[in-house]
Amino acid sequence: MPLPTNVPLPIARHPVWPWYCIRCGREAPDAVFRFRPWAAKLEQILAHHFSFGWRLKIEVPACAHCARSLTLARWVRSLTALPLAFLESALIHVLLGWLGWPPPGPNINLVRLGSVFLCGLVIQVIGLFFPPTIAVRSERDSLVFEFRDPTYAEDFEALNGFDPNEPHIE
Ligand SMILES: [Zn+2]
Repeated sequence: MPLPTNVPLPIARHPVWPWYCIRCGREAPDAVFRFRPWAAKLEQILAHHFSFGWRLKIEVPACAHCARSLTLARWVRSLTALPLAFLESALIHVLLGWLGWPPPGPNINLVRLGSVFLCGLVIQVIGLFFPPTIAVRSERDSLVFEFRDPTYAEDFEALNGFDPNEPHIE
């Protein structure tokens, strides 16, 4: 299973990004992939507010078409995240209905509920095997950047003042 490489940065530090596309590696990309990570706790939301303005926004250099793919992938991926489990269930429900499943029978509601739950579970498990190109999560006083590509993670780390042989440089 490919595990993402994590790079933590102090929450008040604005990240510096490698000047190539995070998805395809092309030099000097012409656009940015823009997204807003979920902040888990109130004090983190407040910390983000003071450092970045209301709600943290991440902008990563990427070519325009790569940025579009990343946005789409992020949207699809959010269906594997628990906060949207209800929406996911509703979508699966509609999809199964469209496919004519389950066929009419005595326990149709039970079978339908079971099918929705099972499909949701499969989507969650599949999501584990495909880490996103980039994800950001907050931890107490730092932001943790998770990269699928370890080389990109190394470049990011170097640009942001981290020597891999040093434990921490502030
Ligand atoms: Zn690209």
